[in-house]
Amino acid sequence: MDKGSAILRRGMYFVHDNPQIIYTLFLVIAIPVAFFWTNERFATLARDSQDRLEYTKISYLHDGLGLFVAENFDDPKKLTQGLEKIAFENKTMIAGKVLRKKTASSTDEVRYYPVVASMSPLDAGEEAIIFDQDSNFSFDRASDDAHHSYFAELLSAKGRYWRSVRAIMATSTDEVVGYLLTEMSMSDADNKFASEKKNAYIISFVIILAIMVLLGRQARIIDYASLYQKLKDVDRMKDDFVSMAAHELRSPLTVIRGYTEMIDESETLSPDAHKHLGNIDRAAVQLNTLIGDILDVAKLQEGRLSFAYADVDVSTEIEAVVTAFLRPAKDKGLTLNYERTALPLISVDIGRFHQVMVNFIGNAIKYTPSGSVHVTTSATEDTLSVRISDTGMGISADDQKKLFQKFYRVKGAETSGITGTGLGLWITQEIVKSMHGTIAVESIKGKGTDFIVSFPIVKK
Ligand code: ADP
Repeated sequence: MDKGSAILRRGMYFVHDNPQIIYTLFLVIAIPVAFFWTNERFATLARDSQDRLEYTKISYLHDGLGLFVAENFDDPKKLTQGLEKIAFENKTMIAGKVLRKKTASSTDEVRYYPVVASMSPLDAGEEAIIFDQDSNFSFDRASDDAHHSYFAELLSAKGRYWRSVRAIMATSTDEVVGYLLTEMSMSDADNKFASEKKNAYIISFVIILAIMVLLGRQARIIDYASLYQKLKDVDRMKDDFVSMAAHELRSPLTVIRGYTEMIDESETLSPDAHKHLGNIDRAAVQLNTLIGDILDVAKLQEGRLSFAYADVDVSTEIEAVVTAFLRPAKDKGLTLNYERTALPLISVDIGRFHQVMVNFIGNAIKYTPSGSVHVTTSATEDTLSVRISDTGMGISADDQKKLFQKFYRVKGAETSGITGTGLGLWITQEIVKSMHGTIAVESIKGKGTDFIVSFPIVKK
């Protein structure tokens, strides 16, 4: 019992982990069953309507033939000719007879009715049994109704056939004097149906086979889909881990920077020690930037980066960033300027806009060995553009195409000593896109680069 339920549980887990099995099984069973059911249903419908047609045809035949038989009941020769003619025109007719009814008074035992005319040559004194035990067929069931026929479906070695009987009334007395009996073979129609059904099954089989082949491929696609889902889960776990690790790294880094600053303030330190502390602080800043980038990438990938939009004149923000970079620019011997003017309002998250400016202006200073960095603004009716121009190393057309890819850095002698992650421009582009802005690059290798970042103006 325990073993059985363990196997059942394992089976359930397996199906749970591989849902494509249910899908495949369902289709493998459902499709053939659907085809089989449809084929059978159509065959039954077709046979029913064929039988109905036959029924109507025989009823009409009996209506006409019944009148003819009633009028000529005493003329067996004429009756025979009439039956022969009808049989000639109806190839499915296998028997056509006229029987005379015997009354109880005319014989001791009424078990047979004599045949007075037949479409095929008559045996002398041929009679028809009035109650056929094998087929449970009785002429009495034809009753006294000369307007309706009595039908029975019977089976012979040659196939299905219909026996139908119509009571014949004497024209003068309205008494039943005999019966008209016809037998129509249904085997032709049945054979045709059987062969059509066979064809339908062959076609269905081919279609099912084709569907099964496609399903095999489909199952593989579902396999890939569940694999993809699992990979996504792993990827999310990785992002969560990276976010958590990056976050945790920041606290000790802040402590390191705090103590470095404290020690640096001491007047008893040698100039060499101050230099070393400067190196420690620069490395810590670099590490902090890297952690910030990693956190931003993780947040962007998870769609967790939030934006607090406000309508702002960004000139103050640009000026603040430029001011913050004056010292590093001066240290490198670069001129950095921005001519502040009032700007039309744009709808951005000011913190994120600040981050974008820091990245562009920071890069411009970082990748410009000598010369200048200019920040200018311009506005059209719809758009405000901020242009960050430098006279730096420039970017080749090939590199420009890959610039915004994650981790992409231009490789070459001129960039060899410059540290970075290759994440800044990817993050910047994602942020700008999220704020409905665009970025364009204009650059000539060896001459300098312009980054133009544009945002739609707020319409009042
Ligand atoms: P990082 O600066 O950390 O390498 P970014 O994504 O900010 O990463 O920049 C990607 C690359 O684009 C840089 O490595 C650099 O080669 C190139 N780049 C960015 N800004 C400039 C610029 N103003 N002039 C020349 N090259 C630049």
